[in-house]
Amino acid sequence: MFKIDTMQGHDRMSTQDLLLAIGDAVKQGETEFEVAASGQHDIGGPLWHPEGKTLHFHVTNAGQRLGSMCLPGTEIVAEGSVSADVGWLNSGGTITVKGDAGDTAGHCSSGGKIFIGGRGGTRTGSLMKHDPLYEEPELWILKNVGSFSFEFMGGGRAVVCGYDSEQFASVLGERACVGMVGGIVYVRGPIDTYPADIKYMDLEADDIAFLDGGMDEFLQHIEREDLRQELSDWSQWKKLRPLTAAEKKGKKSHDLKAFRQNEWVKGGIFSDVAHDDFAVHNTLSTGLYRLRVPSWDNARFAAPCEFNCPTGIPTQRRYDLIRQGKLDEAFQLELEYTPFPGSVCGSVCPNPCMDHCTRGSIDEPIQIGDLGYRSAFLPVEPPKVKTGKKIAVVGGGVAGLSTAWQLARKGHSVTVYDDADHIGGKLEQVIPRGRLAHELLEAELKRIQSVGVEFVTSCKVDKEKFAALRKENDAVVVATGGTKSRFFPWEGAEHLTMGLEYLKAINRGEKPATGKHVVVIGAGNSGMDTCRGAYEMGAETVVAVDVQKPAAFADEIEYIENLGGKLVWPFFTNKITPEGVYGNDGRFIPADQVIVSIGEEPELDFLPEDEGIEFFRKSWLVPKKDQSIAAGVFTAGDTIKPGRLTDAIGSGRKAAWYVDQYVMGKETADFPEKQQIPAERLSKAYFEKCHHCLLGDPVDDHTRCVSCGTCRDCKMCLESCPEKAITRIEKEDGSWEYVSDPDRCIGCGICAGVCPCGVWSINDNPEKIAMYSTGAKA
Ligand SMILES: Cc1cc2nc3c(=O)[nH]c(=O)nc-3n(C[C@H](O)[C@H](O)[C@H](O)COP(=O)(O)OP(=O)(O)OC[C@H]3O[C@@H](n4cnc5c(N)ncnc54)[C@H](O)[C@@H]3O)c2cc1C
Ligand code: SF4
Ligand code: SF4
Ligand code: SF4
Repeated sequence: MFKIDTMQGHDRMSTQDLLLAIGDAVKQGETEFEVAASGQHDIGGPLWHPEGKTLHFHVTNAGQRLGSMCLPGTEIVAEGSVSADVGWLNSGGTITVKGDAGDTAGHCSSGGKIFIGGRGGTRTGSLMKHDPLYEEPELWILKNVGSFSFEFMGGGRAVVCGYDSEQFASVLGERACVGMVGGIVYVRGPIDTYPADIKYMDLEADDIAFLDGGMDEFLQHIEREDLRQELSDWSQWKKLRPLTAAEKKGKKSHDLKAFRQNEWVKGGIFSDVAHDDFAVHNTLSTGLYRLRVPSWDNARFAAPCEFNCPTGIPTQRRYDLIRQGKLDEAFQLELEYTPFPGSVCGSVCPNPCMDHCTRGSIDEPIQIGDLGYRSAFLPVEPPKVKTGKKIAVVGGGVAGLSTAWQLARKGHSVTVYDDADHIGGKLEQVIPRGRLAHELLEAELKRIQSVGVEFVTSCKVDKEKFAALRKENDAVVVATGGTKSRFFPWEGAEHLTMGLEYLKAINRGEKPATGKHVVVIGAGNSGMDTCRGAYEMGAETVVAVDVQKPAAFADEIEYIENLGGKLVWPFFTNKITPEGVYGNDGRFIPADQVIVSIGEEPELDFLPEDEGIEFFRKSWLVPKKDQSIAAGVFTAGDTIKPGRLTDAIGSGRKAAWYVDQYVMGKETADFPEKQQIPAERLSKAYFEKCHHCLLGDPVDDHTRCVSCGTCRDCKMCLESCPEKAITRIEKEDGSWEYVSDPDRCIGCGICAGVCPCGVWSINDNPEKIAMYSTGAKA
């Protein structure tokens, strides 16, 4: 038992200290409270026991709001009378007052029961309401209540027993039930007039069942079981309830000005103390007076797939077109972003788009890589108009080819120079054929030629050639990638085989010298390709070592481990000998061949030395924002920093954006980039979770795709708007727009809440609200 007397001599405990003490006791598991209060407020709510046990309060001399916001599982008994607002916002507690309650007892209560053993003050039961998900609130009063009681009541049941109230002309005081829109008031005894939209009627069977069923509990709580019989003559009881919608039909709806002046309080509420024109401009503001305004921000944000694809492919737009039945346009759209939908998206891209796909947080990510493959063999139209501008691209890897593809499709004449005898960079030279079908790569390279790009192979660009290319062309793009295997000056480094050269030889169809027992230094993706190559060339054992947790894609590691390969980390190489590798902790791994595969760095000695070109660690280029490194010279791909194929393709696309502006003499506009859509804008509840999905054709994923940030034309907003403010406007080209009519819109934000795709925003009204005078005299 937690027992407290809040008066110690002349010292009175503050409300705050009392509530803190009660809260601490509840946390410690206490369930019984005996509080000798001295007018402290808010005793008894909102509280919950850590193990869900019922809390019992016995309170004397309570102040205002006894049991305010009281929760289920709290029972309060107040001896004697209490001050105003008992059970204010009660949400489930049982509150008993043995004496009288002050004003506004049960105000705004939405659950639980309040039992008053005496009288209720003015505005008793005002704004009581009922959330249909929970039990309705009950308010029982033994005697009578003051004026304005049950004002704006919206739900629940109130019982006024009219006991010991003979001296009152009305047991509900004056003007009860004004503005009441829901709930029932049961009353025993005479009442004053009531509003025209309230019905005063005899009890029905349901009402008697309710009163009969609840009366014992009420009387037990207030300890007046002796009154049961006297109060149970149901012929003495009546009820008040608002008219139903059907009963109101045909009746003139309220003139709110007249209601305020004549019905609520005669002469107008507060007219004795303040001036008011009593006009109600609108209960729900529209237009200029809205606090918030919606805006249809279609495609304002990047979808996670688009944002996390360094190439920037907007998969949501492809599915949007598919939903409209425009399949060809959807497949062509991918080619606006990449010339390698099959070789990269559909084959060797690690699919960071799918790692971040919103659908992955519902069940399985959208099959974006496979969708890309659907554009692999699609022909494209060559440009209709030629600009007459000439551009040279040095390096025919994905970065150079992506730049060339974009520029050629804009009508420029583009030639790609590569030192290898086959164009394609790492895709052609080192990525194992087992991971990327050669015919697919060749088909995509041919498509690049089909838009007019010239390939010049077996042409190593040196200083002289580079200078000549600058003279002959309007711009030059350097995209020579990483060409030199990196390694540290370990002791015995001369015994190393360079991974890049080793893989190149395999892809050329040669059989490079391979040991029986191979160690590969580096367990990233190129390291895994090197392990794969070594097994293909006849190695019996292959061990990959790394200083850190292997960075290779999980399925590449799994592939090597399935071949019998081992990954050892952390392993810091110290010395290489013809017999094997020593780590700096003394460990030794025997091997008759050690291949290094820890990355590549660019070789850029063909660039001019006197033009202030900036380098990072003497190897990688540091371009300006427009990806230029010198006048008319731009760069893209692994010359800037090592990355994935999709990074290089995106980098090429960006370079092309700036090269085009440069050669055409346009004012430089920034490369368009969007912010990723915040996850909380999306309403995933719209989509059904698939528990046992068999993923079908990637094209059919248009139903699964959340269409993050892009309107899927589901009409949810249009159908959900309570004011019918939204309309869909179809344009001539078949596209559409949703607009909200400001004269109807109340700024409730339901459109933003329901839109599965996060298209609608709801923002503060930017219009300044000019305050107007009511004409009140100071
Ligand atoms: C073994 C290995 C496996 C990889 N696997 C993957 C993978 O599965 N997925 C992934 O996303 N990324 C992978 N990568 C990374 C990816 O290959 C690179 O990010 C990408 O190729 C970089 O493209 P690039 O165009 O900048 O360079 P590159 O592809 O290297 O192209 C540069 C081209 O320039 C040519 N060149 C160089 N110097 C000259 C010169 N002076 N004159 C003329 N031509 C020149 C080269 O011959 C080459 O053709 C892998 C890398 C390696 C090494
Ligand atoms: S390039 Fe890679 S990240 Fe981009 S869409 Fe294709 S698969 Fe996804
Ligand atoms: S759900 Fe659709 S739009 Fe969203 S990230 Fe995935 S593919 Fe992109
Ligand atoms: S609710 Fe549907 S129709 Fe409305 S904006 Fe969002 S996606 Fe488009």
